[in-house]
Amino acid sequence: MRLIVKNLNILRSIINTINTSFEIKEIVESAGNNLPSLFEFSALGVLWKEESTLYLYQEESCPPSFTKEVAQNMVRVFSVLGEEPNDLARVTLQVEKRKLRPSHMAMDSKATLKSYLVLPLAVEDEIIGCVSLNSDQPNAFDAQDLQFFSVIGYQMAATLKHFQRFSSVKTMAVYDTLTTLYNRRYMEERLIVEAQKSFYSGSSLSLVMIDIDHFKKVNDTFGHTEGDKVLREIASLLKTSVRKKDTVARYGGEEFILILPEAGLEETTMIAERIRRLVESKLFEVGQAHINITVSLGISNFPGHNPKSKEDLVRMADQALYDAKRGGRNRVCLFNPVQK
Ligand code: GH3
Ligand code: MG
Ligand code: MG
Repeated sequence: MRLIVKNLNILRSIINTINTSFEIKEIVESAGNNLPSLFEFSALGVLWKEESTLYLYQEESCPPSFTKEVAQNMVRVFSVLGEEPNDLARVTLQVEKRKLRPSHMAMDSKATLKSYLVLPLAVEDEIIGCVSLNSDQPNAFDAQDLQFFSVIGYQMAATLKHFQRFSSVKTMAVYDTLTTLYNRRYMEERLIVEAQKSFYSGSSLSLVMIDIDHFKKVNDTFGHTEGDKVLREIASLLKTSVRKKDTVARYGGEEFILILPEAGLEETTMIAERIRRLVESKLFEVGQAHINITVSLGISNFPGHNPKSKEDLVRMADQALYDAKRGGRNRVCLFNPVQK
């Protein structure tokens, strides 16, 4: 009984992560990271129809021959399930290797596919892909595994369908056209998800609010078009300054925001300081001139600053940014609760 409760709890947490994912990669990653607590397997595969992509999340010691066998098998099963002929050559294969097993259980370089569970990803009678658990051990899965895996497969299908439905309008609704960064609307949606994750699990979440110093002067001196160019350059500098899991968005005119999940105050300060220095040391080409530009940055953090809501977290970053401006610009400030 205790085992079932434990497994149900793991299942619930997997479903929660799948539910709050924003991209297929995230779904596969969260499933791949959590499934080893429920099943023993060598590779998790997700194949979905949009652009015929097969995503394999597998044990790092998986030999290439095993990967190929899994891929071939998934495509074959999908062809049967979806009643559409498909071959591996037309499928985009993305493989992500992770340590899923303790090292003494590393796979043999001659390991072959011995057992698998494949489920259709079906929504409203339409098969949009399939998901599989694969093992180099014979009879690796039983009826209970199938039941648990079905629940996960069902949730993956629902989330995938949701992505597909919105993918056509997504580009328009999500990105800022001038800088190609995420727009404020997307940032707000993303923040709901990240705040929910952090507030639920207690993991750290930081925001960095960034505003260009005296930007009006750039526009006034060199014109709006040159100002736009500077905005694009700063946007691309921000994009390359953060980690993969971070979100960079244009928050307003010449204001940007970073959402940094699982980043504590120290790491966030380092990232912010690095950005500040990068901007400060860059020469921006505007018209015939080369000029220096600086930015001010404000940081807030959960749980460090004890925000009660995501709005609170934004307000705190905004206040820290205000302090950075008041303190003379070109600086990073942390939220300071004393000056409320
Ligand atoms: P501070 O250091 O206090 O932030 O001074 P500032 O001049 O940057 O701030 P202020 O808020 O007075 O001016 C912001 C300027 O940003 C005014 C506006 O013309 C410019 N701006 C906002 N959006 C855009 C845009 O899309 N393109 C261009 N070129 N300029 C923009
Ligand atoms: Mg501003
Ligand atoms: Mg400004």
